[in-house]
Amino acid sequence: MTKANASNYLLAADLVEAGAWRVDPALGLVYGKKGNPFRRTNTWGYIQIKFRDPGDWRTERAVLAHRVIWESVHGPLADHLTINHINGNKQDNRLVNIEAVTLAENVRHAFATGLSVGRSPTHCKHGHAYTPENTRVLPRGDRVCRACAVIRNRKYRALARA
Ligand SMILES: [Zn+2]
Repeated sequence: MTKANASNYLLAADLVEAGAWRVDPALGLVYGKKGNPFRRTNTWGYIQIKFRDPGDWRTERAVLAHRVIWESVHGPLADHLTINHINGNKQDNRLVNIEAVTLAENVRHAFATGLSVGRSPTHCKHGHAYTPENTRVLPRGDRVCRACAVIRNRKYRALARA
């Protein structure tokens, strides 16, 4: 059982403080104990970090990387706020791309950028057609544009070289 709640971010902040995790806000990455960035995404396409509770190893906890990064710079996120990805790419967690907004603002932005229900049924938000060859379907039915994935990977590799 994975527990996801606000107290998990306090534990995550402890791990960052202790040096077990390292945050690079400019690149938008959180690195684990072995020095590799966390990249696993959850069902909704956000980078999620799962870890064992340091005080109780039977309990698995989960946090979202974008919030860990935001909090490493700004401190704890207020209860009524949520993190918005400014360019609409949920995996682009660079500090310049994440902002704290109210839930209402975030929903409005999701519609505007096509992250939510308002998205086109035939094309990704960058205009690539959802053909069978260009579409990867995730377990819950969300579609991933392969052309965009290639571009994303290229950007990450360029960042890694920089
Ligand atoms: Zn695309």
